[in-house]
Amino acid sequence: MIVYFIGTGGSEGIPAHLCTCPTCNEARKFGFARRLPSTVAIITENKKAVLFDVGTDIRDALQVPLEAIFLTHWHHDHIYGLYKLRWMALETPLYAPEGQADALILNEPKNLRPKTIKPGDTVEIDTLKITALHLNHQVETLGYLIEEDGKSIALLYDTKGLPEGTWEFLEEKAPLRLAIVDATYPPGTNDPYHNNVDEAAEIGLKLAKRTVLSHISHKNLPFLQLTEYVRKRWGNKVLVAYDGMVFYV
Ligand SMILES: [Zn+2]
Ligand SMILES: [Zn+2]
Ligand SMILES: [Zn+2]
Repeated sequence: MIVYFIGTGGSEGIPAHLCTCPTCNEARKFGFARRLPSTVAIITENKKAVLFDVGTDIRDALQVPLEAIFLTHWHHDHIYGLYKLRWMALETPLYAPEGQADALILNEPKNLRPKTIKPGDTVEIDTLKITALHLNHQVETLGYLIEEDGKSIALLYDTKGLPEGTWEFLEEKAPLRLAIVDATYPPGTNDPYHNNVDEAAEIGLKLAKRTVLSHISHKNLPFLQLTEYVRKRWGNKVLVAYDGMVFYV
């Protein structure tokens, strides 16, 4: 499978509108440092596409039929793109957890076909086996284990650490090929709902051969500084996601 990172930012995107912090200023100089809100596509061995979160309008990045869309949770930075995408010409299943569901999407889904998914549920889509996992966040939030042909990756945001049951489940599957982990904040920040960079790397290093840090806020270090920090500490075991990044599993 191929993991296509369409959006790797937090709620505000980088640069945040009119913000003059170092991270936002850097992103006005270097296009690669810009970030749209969280959106990841998995392209299967059969070249079918499955979308995980829709933080942005995907039409410039991916204009193919979607086998399914999975939401991690109903926070706006993970669903913005749905308001437009629901007008698509093909009926598409939308798997989403309960918990502060967006009324507009559920009352007027257009061509989306919403279905509830709970921790422990497994859905098979094309060659993928997708299992929902409980995460630690403000609202009901699901991580996903995505397996194809003996290879597996975990999508773990938004979260602070991992609930015990999720640790136990993933440790049995370890080593995963890839862990994509919430790294919203810079080293040293302690937030109840999101990891900092060190906390995120620690989760990934325990579970997977490679870790990609994503869901990165403008409050985090500027792109170049963050990349240098991560490279010096963990070599190529831990990578910083960027919009447009493609990871072959
Ligand atoms: Zn988020
Ligand atoms: Zn900023
Ligand atoms: Zn959230």
